[in-house]
Amino acid sequence: MGKQKKSKVKNKSRKPSGSHVRPSKALGQNFLIDENVIYEIVEGSSITEDSLVIEIGPGEGALTTELAERAGRVIAVELDARLVQLLNVKLFGMDNVEIIHGDILEVDLDTIITENLKAYDLKDVRVVGNLPYYITTPIIMKLLETGIKADSITAMMQKEVGDRLMAEPGTKQSGAITYAVHYYSEVSKVVDAGSECFYPAPKVDSVVLRMDIRDEAPVELDDVDMFFKVIKAGFTQRRKTLLNSLTTLEGCDKDMAEAALCSAGIERTRRAESLTMQEFAELTKALEEAMK
Ligand code: SAM
Repeated sequence: MGKQKKSKVKNKSRKPSGSHVRPSKALGQNFLIDENVIYEIVEGSSITEDSLVIEIGPGEGALTTELAERAGRVIAVELDARLVQLLNVKLFGMDNVEIIHGDILEVDLDTIITENLKAYDLKDVRVVGNLPYYITTPIIMKLLETGIKADSITAMMQKEVGDRLMAEPGTKQSGAITYAVHYYSEVSKVVDAGSECFYPAPKVDSVVLRMDIRDEAPVELDDVDMFFKVIKAGFTQRRKTLLNSLTTLEGCDKDMAEAALCSAGIERTRRAESLTMQEFAELTKALEEAMK
């Protein structure tokens, strides 16, 4: 895995030469211009010639060309038609790259992955992307919740969001997404990236995380959907005690919440952020019983 270092370039967020598209703020376009960070992302994704890479938001192709040098095949999904056109010219002749014009939240990744693995006899699937920050959480949740057939996800995101994902469930820094990410994957940091690593420079610092999809869930559950509903309810008003926040769960009144907390051995005054993944699993089972 990549070294944990902060990369710097000398010229502050210089406009890259050969850039043709005026960056769209609305589409979260902050293009990577730091070669060290690009190297760390590719290196930290364990890509080989047997890998199928799904790239989210290739932009002007800073990562795409490097990914294509190593991977068996790269499928890059880009929403901005101007960039799709530019990429088709830039990547002309690179036969192992396909650009799909579409929304990463809408495309049928399952079919894309299944068809490409079969057609090109590839062995593993690596999702990679310098994410559009306005939809970081929906993208990560889509990938994880739909059970994407990938081995790992390496993603650049806002540092603040990265801190949430890296937090240990049951600590102050954790949020609902912390439990989801740790339930589906093992998270590690690849590299930090200051705002000077991008053009235009964003107002925030960034971090690249790698999520290795687990083969086995870390806790046993009868109903995964209910587990995440309970977690979301717990965090809807994170300052409230669990007894109060659980009543936001559909069909759960205060008596049911109290009975479930008691049966799971969890103090009613505790807050969601203090619960371990195992405690949330036990609380979910107890709530299923109490709400019958
Ligand atoms: N990978 C490039 C780089 O590192 O220089 C660009 C990264 S930029 C932060 C995010 C990219 O995602 C942009 O190219 C943007 O147009 C694209 N994008 C934004 N929303 C998208 C969506 N819903 N689906 C696919 N791509 C999207």
